[in-house]
Amino acid sequence: MENQLKKIAVLTSGGDSPGMNAAVRAVVRTSVFYNINCFAVYQGYQGLIDGNMKVINARGVNNIINKGGTILKSARSLEFRTPEGRKKAYDNLKKNQIEALVVIGGDGSFTGAMIFQNEFNFPVIGIPGTIDNDIYGTNYTLGYDTAINTVVEAIDKIRDTASSHNRLFFVEVMGRDAGHIALNSGIGAGAEEILIPEENRGLEQLLESLKRSEKSGKSSSIVVVAEGDKTGKNVFEIASYVEKNLPYYEVRVSVLGHMQRGGSPSCFDRVLASRMGVHAVESLLKGESNVMVGVNNDQMELTPLEKAIKGKSEINKDLLRVTDILSI
Ligand code: ATP
Repeated sequence: MENQLKKIAVLTSGGDSPGMNAAVRAVVRTSVFYNINCFAVYQGYQGLIDGNMKVINARGVNNIINKGGTILKSARSLEFRTPEGRKKAYDNLKKNQIEALVVIGGDGSFTGAMIFQNEFNFPVIGIPGTIDNDIYGTNYTLGYDTAINTVVEAIDKIRDTASSHNRLFFVEVMGRDAGHIALNSGIGAGAEEILIPEENRGLEQLLESLKRSEKSGKSSSIVVVAEGDKTGKNVFEIASYVEKNLPYYEVRVSVLGHMQRGGSPSCFDRVLASRMGVHAVESLLKGESNVMVGVNNDQMELTPLEKAIKGKSEINKDLLRVTDILSI
């Protein structure tokens, strides 16, 4: 490796996601492998400002690969949004002779990292950790695979009760701006209809589809609704609209909520986190900065943070077609 770093730091920021711990473990152990001292920063950017950091060795990350959440804790730091806050963070990094920073988080965390790098010319590298899979420059973000498996498991259970009572269930899943979770877990759980932020097909089409299903002999159904779907109604309003128009259905709503963020990471997320952690440290050693590590077509790739933040991670529209065909 060209650039011998002696000290780096790692933090987790924004919403937690399964796989963050596996990524921390990978960053720490890769640092040890290359004779770099790795500092663990606690409470995200707030920890940088407060000087809440200490050197962590390879044994300090034992038995965390399987744990959800983040052992480093996360925080939403208002102070880091101010130049004064960021100066304090910079001073603490300098005081500890830390030469580069690995940030595991979502697009807000990357915005903070990019501003910090531009202000102080301080090397930063991002690892995308968010269940929403809404970051440009990577096919998958850490935690997404675990989250869709959690959702599928929950919907399977809802289906048991739905079919026993001939009910129509509306299941709200996370995704304010992105429908990846809804679309993929919906197909995986055999949902009748999937409502996502990227495409507003209108409530009429939903009614038509449910009518068709009823006529074809379906006695229960699941409709998956992303938090940010564009019908202009929330899941409870959609459910009561359908109930009014299709009185033969007994309608129920289930909001899955924060359980989607927790749990032990899937094998996919653990492997992804491990690869991203190794690639992040090796990229810093090669002198890379202001970039995010991602995986595209199973290859590790770097994307400038600015592009990762501003770019749009498109949903695969073919999946909508698949839903339409299979919900017949
Ligand atoms: P999630 O996708 O789960 O919401 P995130 O990384 O997008 O994760 P945010 O709360 O948006 O979460 O951002 C995390 C932290 O990054 C903020 O609390 C703040 O400290 C920092 N940050 C975000 N935006 C900025 C900004 N414009 N300037 C400086 N710091 C920022």
